[in-house]
Amino acid sequence: MRINTDFIRKCVGLQDIKITYVNINKGIFEIFATSAFDFANCPKCGQLTQQPHDKRYQSYEHLPIWGLKTVIILEIKRYKCSCDPEHPFDENFKFIRKYQRRTIPFEEYIFNLAHKNTIQNIAELIGISHNACQRIYNYYAKQKLATKKPKKLELLGIDDIAVKKGHNYNTVIYNQETGSSIDVIEGRTKKDVLDYFKTLPQEVKDQIKAVSMDMSKGYCAAVSESFSNAKVVIDRFHITKNLHDKVDEIRRKIQNKAKKENNKAKTFNIRWALLKKVENLTGKELSNLLLAFEEYPVLEKLHYLKEEFSKFFTIKSKEAAHAFIDYFKELVKEYEIVELESFSNTLNNWLEEILNYYDYQISNGLIEGNNHKIKNIKRRGYGYRNQDNFNLRVKLEFAFK
Ligand SMILES: [Zn+2]
Repeated sequence: MRINTDFIRKCVGLQDIKITYVNINKGIFEIFATSAFDFANCPKCGQLTQQPHDKRYQSYEHLPIWGLKTVIILEIKRYKCSCDPEHPFDENFKFIRKYQRRTIPFEEYIFNLAHKNTIQNIAELIGISHNACQRIYNYYAKQKLATKKPKKLELLGIDDIAVKKGHNYNTVIYNQETGSSIDVIEGRTKKDVLDYFKTLPQEVKDQIKAVSMDMSKGYCAAVSESFSNAKVVIDRFHITKNLHDKVDEIRRKIQNKAKKENNKAKTFNIRWALLKKVENLTGKELSNLLLAFEEYPVLEKLHYLKEEFSKFFTIKSKEAAHAFIDYFKELVKEYEIVELESFSNTLNNWLEEILNYYDYQISNGLIEGNNHKIKNIKRRGYGYRNQDNFNLRVKLEFAFK
């Protein structure tokens, strides 16, 4: 067959090779090629040598041409150098990584495909093993991440995330300024987080000014012990959630009791209405609430306290916020709702960290959305049993979002 090797060379798109022959064999596009040079640089002394020793052929999978699996059968010469004639060396091609059986353009193609697909999908599509595909992904992901200049870390966020419903928690660390995930840690205990913080260089630890989190003793202790200059900031959404959980718990108790007494008429449909802001209630919700209040005055008190507490988030100064918390605790006492005293205690126990918000106005609001993204990655890549592979994927997707 007469072949236009120049045209094929352009299709192949690799530099520094001469194409000697092409063939289609059992649906595989075979390209025979050799180096365009008849010399090589000695890896030991750096001198050029033209003394061939012997040669061998090695095949490398390349980007598909015209939809066909494409293999480059490369002649690899071994050269001898006068500096060490006993040890000949292989000539080296820029488009192949050491010990790999695929060309770099083909590996990059696999990496790009894997960006929005699971490793398993790509492995099946390309016809390579899962492990080989994962190794290619990891290599190029690390290279790509290395091109990103690390941002100065000053404000962090930390949150837990359920990997599987009910068990297996991970901890996610965020850079508050970029919204990027810095790392995903297995587990959520103080030790889990402490062990991770130990891996950070001292100068990074010294720069950290504040870390937002929910009211988790483990996270708080890990941060205080690891970063001498950092303040813990309790996430505002979690304070509200804590109060709402308490309110809901009391409502449930009252309604369960009514149900037990077979008093169906008195189990009002107020679960969400009770927690909603008054101005957002529908007419129906409001009338349900009012009916319930008539029957159970404690619900009315509870509702009032909940509404009153929402004013906390409009306060602009640390002093006023401190005064408000004292006022609210008094109010709980006055209304004699024993169950809410545990919320007052929570406010007491975390007072300093709650007020730290006025020094660093950070919250985990941003993080909640990111947690979604991480769960999605987890779902998409199901089979991420290896935490390092998972972390790498998370980092890359956040770094180039
Ligand atoms: Zn040499």
